[in-house]
Amino acid sequence: MNTRRDFLQKLAASAIAFPSITSFAAATVPVVGCNTPYDGPVLRVAIMGLGSYGTRVAEAMQSCKKAKLVGAISGTPAKLKNWQAKYNIPEKNCYNYENFDAVRNNPDIDAVYVITPNALHHDQVIRVAKAGKHAICEKPMAVNAKEGQEMVDACKQAGVKLLVGYRMHFEPHTLEVIRMRKAGQFGTIRFFQGLTGFTIGDPTQWRLNKQLSGGGSLMDIGIYSINGSRYMVGEDPVWVTAQETKTDKVKFKEGVDETIQFQLGFPSGAVASCLSTYNMNNLDKFFLDGTGGWAEMWPSTGYGPIKGRTHLGELNQPIVTHQTLQMDEMSGILLAGEQPVVPVDGAEAVKDLKVIDGIYASVASGKRVDLQL
Ligand code: NDP
Repeated sequence: MNTRRDFLQKLAASAIAFPSITSFAAATVPVVGCNTPYDGPVLRVAIMGLGSYGTRVAEAMQSCKKAKLVGAISGTPAKLKNWQAKYNIPEKNCYNYENFDAVRNNPDIDAVYVITPNALHHDQVIRVAKAGKHAICEKPMAVNAKEGQEMVDACKQAGVKLLVGYRMHFEPHTLEVIRMRKAGQFGTIRFFQGLTGFTIGDPTQWRLNKQLSGGGSLMDIGIYSINGSRYMVGEDPVWVTAQETKTDKVKFKEGVDETIQFQLGFPSGAVASCLSTYNMNNLDKFFLDGTGGWAEMWPSTGYGPIKGRTHLGELNQPIVTHQTLQMDEMSGILLAGEQPVVPVDGAEAVKDLKVIDGIYASVASGKRVDLQL
């Protein structure tokens, strides 16, 4: 199966072959570990959905200092057994999809990280909230803004926090470009380009089943260009236009987009031009242009190493394991009330879902759609 993990590994390898980035220095900074002593609060996390990405997060959490994997929720008993042995998870912290509401009676779990197919996030996060636990949810948080808002409301009502796995919001190269933009080093921002896509494999996977995915490439990978346009430009878009192309109507059925191009307009007059696809490789690139300079990130959202350069030269931020950093930072947000530079809460995710709704509406109508984020 051509998993996203495979894709990103291939992407990292293939990026080296591109002449325009061969001048980038090889990553020499070691992966940031968590070796410094820490005796503050530790976020005790149960992962729900022990699939490809859940496994990646579990592995990365082994290097966390502020977060610890303590529980697992799965529909596959064999995986639970495996995780219990591998990560030293006690039986009492293991659940399935029928009984996980009982996590409410488990004082040893602070948060549940939902890493299941997109369309399941809504009900699962609401059940987590009702069980009185903080919820961390993978992107896209839901399949539309209405469901996303219901999740935000449910968490608020239950008095728990809702965070979304926007790992790039903690990534050092990304944060450096944001810092430079805020410091005015690019002048007035005029343009953003986001190219995100990969060639998807196995036609039977849930990502190509609208009931489980909520859509196609836009939900899965195009969301990085949507979210990225917002944190790179530093504004929320006020309109969108979008066009869909489909070369394979068997693999990409009704409601499952293969390729969508979309354009966003921002209050300042800045514009974005983006491509989301399940039918092209080597697309993981951001470009930001202002009156005083520019930034390019390529790869921009893969697992890394992220690379970037600006009109002032190459970016040399530390290379990190995104999920390790994310979970440590999320611990600080959930347990110590820390504020991230770029929000990672449910309200932030609803904004992206409103853009997704707008893109699909524009594809359907052929018209520009106004947005109110
Ligand atoms: P996988 O298919 O690899 O894993 C999903 C897991 O969800 C399954 O292994 C299964 O675990 C569980 N599951 C529960 N119900 C179903 C069902 N009906 N069909 C299939 N699986 C089910 O997907 P990924 O791990 O790649 O993606 C999961 C989520 O993570 C998605 O929302 C995706 O967008 C997001 N993601 C985020 C990434 C990021 O970089 N932030 C990267 C990759 C994915 P079990 O057997 O334990 O029940």
